Amino acid sequence: MTLRTPPSAPAWDYAPAPESFRPEIAEQHGLFIDGKFVKPRSGKFMKVINPATEEVLTRVAEAGKADVAAAVEAATKAQRKWSRLPGKERAKYLFRIARRMQERARELAVLETLNNGKPIKESRDGDVPESAKHFFHHAGWCDKLRYAVPGGGEPGPVGVCGQIIPWNFPLMMAAWKLAPALACGNTCVLKPAETTPLTALRLAEILQEVDLPPGVVNVVTGGPETGKLVAGHAGFHKIAFTGSTEVGKAIVKACAARPVRLTMELGGKGAHLVFADAAIDQAVEGAVQGIFYNQGQVCCAGSRLLVEESVAEEFRAKLLQRMSSLRVGDPMDKNTDVGAINSASQRDRIQGYVQIARKEGAEVLESGCGTLPTKGFWCRPTALAGVQPSHTVAREEIFGPVVALMTFRTVDEAVARANDSAYGLSAGIWTEKSAKMFEVARRLRAGVVWCNGFNLFDAASPFGGVKESGFGREGGRHGLLEYLAH
Ligand code: NAD
Repeated sequence: MTLRTPPSAPAWDYAPAPESFRPEIAEQHGLFIDGKFVKPRSGKFMKVINPATEEVLTRVAEAGKADVAAAVEAATKAQRKWSRLPGKERAKYLFRIARRMQERARELAVLETLNNGKPIKESRDGDVPESAKHFFHHAGWCDKLRYAVPGGGEPGPVGVCGQIIPWNFPLMMAAWKLAPALACGNTCVLKPAETTPLTALRLAEILQEVDLPPGVVNVVTGGPETGKLVAGHAGFHKIAFTGSTEVGKAIVKACAARPVRLTMELGGKGAHLVFADAAIDQAVEGAVQGIFYNQGQVCCAGSRLLVEESVAEEFRAKLLQRMSSLRVGDPMDKNTDVGAINSASQRDRIQGYVQIARKEGAEVLESGCGTLPTKGFWCRPTALAGVQPSHTVAREEIFGPVVALMTFRTVDEAVARANDSAYGLSAGIWTEKSAKMFEVARRLRAGVVWCNGFNLFDAASPFGGVKESGFGREGGRHGLLEYLAH
């Protein structure tokens, strides 16, 4: 029986979701230096837009040389006192930050979605809780640092840290950088990405609310030029960078002549292996989460999907069917699966790779998913079938909702194809056979290997890459070691 609405019935009028209320956004934001929001000495500001609508959200300061120098000076001044505070006192600040992030979670999630374009369900259920979790986790470490270091002893901080982060997980990357640094007694100058500075600035407000001593964290907004000033400043004892491999290499070169510690969390080209004995429906779901989460703008995305030949046809049919059910559109809608691409240049870059794939002989399979909005930056979830290991899209990081489908026939071929990459950040394995799972995991050259799941994170678990995906770890005891002099 089909239920119909009588013609006279009023249209359904749903109550607005709590996330529909927009947080206040000031017209202009200064830099956060020495515990205060200050005007940039450079006098420069840049626009920040909503990538789903192209609306200008606000203007943020573009830090110049004198601004970065002032931030380093404030962090240097604060360093001694902060590092001498007993661990259990530092912990209280980290706990307060985490709790305040939870209290302001809705505001942070909406702001993240407005600024980044990611679906609200991801910022609400992923980015914000994960960020608070990092502060909670590291709060617990503050007075137990001697247990983090092999051989014991009371380890000290590295000193003043310059931290440069990308736009794909703006708040989470800030939390991954700041929480371990502060727990270990370091002070920080954080440089958010030019397109997504808003949640880092809101986090700075939280730092003021919890009375974090001035100078312990400073936030300098700006573009690549500001990033260069941070990477090049001689006052840092450590530079922690997350971003592209290309920029990572430039920073390593810029720092080569100075005694500065480095961590580099760079690009990836994750191999996602599906064996014939896997639970295929779950593997399809894992593959979808692995590449379309956050519009595929994830360093550890499973962008190379390698499926055992005997189930490749079945897998492809199920994948395409699942892709057609993805909802692409308004990131503020709670039912949206795939939101906006973060910028016009990133959208163009993704589309450029799809054109290259077509020219090199791949079959381009775009999901239908209705009409895309006319304003904003969008890409349809796309699968590229018939990709060969030599194709550009199998080798270079696309950083978008585009997956390259390839096949293999034996375990050895699967491992060889997975390892045939300059990158080594993440990999995934789907099989019901645990012996095969352990053997393949051991042979894969990637910093993180997930089995029968993908994109799984925990503040207690180290994350990072090998080869051109960088060096150093974030999270857990290994992540702490990066911020301790031992
Ligand atoms: P990007 O390298 O262009 O920029 C990252 C940051 O560096 C931004 O804040 C930017 O302003 C700054 N920057 C740019 N040029 C600089 C320079 N010459 N010197 C100093 N700073 C400079 O990267 P992106 O486009 O923002 O982010 C996407 C990349 O980040 C992808 O390659 C992705 O794989 C990578 N990423 C890696 C991880 C990881 O943990 N390995 C996590 C997230 C993103």
